[in-house]
Amino acid sequence: MSKVHNFSAGPAILPKSAIDASVAALQNFAGTGLSLIEVSHRSKEYEAVVDEATQLVKDILKLGDDYAVVFLQGGASLQFDMIPMNWLGDGETAAYTNTGVWAGRAIKEAKLFGNVNVVASSEDKNFSYLPKGYAIPSDAKYFHCTSNNTIYGTEMFDFPNTNGVPLICDMSSDIFSRPFDATQFDMIYAGAQKNMGPAGTTLVIVKKSFLEKRAKRTIPTMLDYKIHIDNGSMYNTPSVFAIFVCMHTLRWVKEIGLEAMEARNKAKADLLYNEIDRNSLFVGTVAKEDRSRMNVNFVLNNKDYEAEFLKFCEAKGLSGLKGHRSVGGLRASLYNALELESVQALVDAMQEFEAMKK
Ligand SMILES: *Cc1c(COP(=O)(O)O)cnc(C)c1O
Repeated sequence: MSKVHNFSAGPAILPKSAIDASVAALQNFAGTGLSLIEVSHRSKEYEAVVDEATQLVKDILKLGDDYAVVFLQGGASLQFDMIPMNWLGDGETAAYTNTGVWAGRAIKEAKLFGNVNVVASSEDKNFSYLPKGYAIPSDAKYFHCTSNNTIYGTEMFDFPNTNGVPLICDMSSDIFSRPFDATQFDMIYAGAQKNMGPAGTTLVIVKKSFLEKRAKRTIPTMLDYKIHIDNGSMYNTPSVFAIFVCMHTLRWVKEIGLEAMEARNKAKADLLYNEIDRNSLFVGTVAKEDRSRMNVNFVLNNKDYEAEFLKFCEAKGLSGLKGHRSVGGLRASLYNALELESVQALVDAMQEFEAMKK
């Protein structure tokens, strides 16, 4: 079979080393003679996996013992509920930015638990830019933002100074894609299936001092961060397979390093955006200064060509380019594991298509 270039937005491309290790472990996990998916999560071999994955997150993000790292279930979407349930008391207010579908869902859930102050929104232009220069009220219990808007293709490269208001970020689709100062955050979360592993686990990082500031409310055991942290991701059966794959992806990330990862990602994004800007058939949909390096959104000037171009791409093994159903057009997701060669193949297809239409 010829190579398929995977531009899927999620679940998405993973490093080959992680896939190969998973295939081997499904047959024989860590020399146990058993499959990874039929061993006890309490076995010493599997506990070593959770411990290593946790430590790798801390190493890569340079986090000390003042932070806790856990792998939970329920996707990033459950975090939309757990965050306000744990930190937003009745009658209290949290600040949110509304920068896309996921941010909107986070806002919707937070309203179930307290007041939400939407301090900035880009809904007026279909989330095609990032709002700037907004103020975060000092009495907010926390400020929540989304670093990369997977569906619309905007990405935050700087985070606001919150003047002491705890900073929470949904980094589902760009975590580990570049260096950033993780110590400015009180809480970070990321569903695994964009840039870290398969669906089924969510990385949660919490500053321990923030954990002490939870709201005065009865929190169901499974939704209480403290329970999961005190039990090292093992309060109940964790997502055994998903965490194993994350561990292997994280090994790969650590080996490359976040600086080199950023350079790779920048080279890929530049190559594609330059072609979008040069090619007369295509146009980018996002404000240039806010363009995401992870999810590149673009459309064809002539909408009639869209389905034809997608078919043209499929035939060349360029997979997963259809835009999200809420925006249409095209979206190329260029997560960490996608090689420059795949972006070059897409650019070649765009040029060939342009020549065909002349
Ligand atoms: C995909 C995504 C989500 C939702 O993740 P699930 O794991 O499907 O719940 C939330 N936020 C962002 C930024 C995403 O890209």
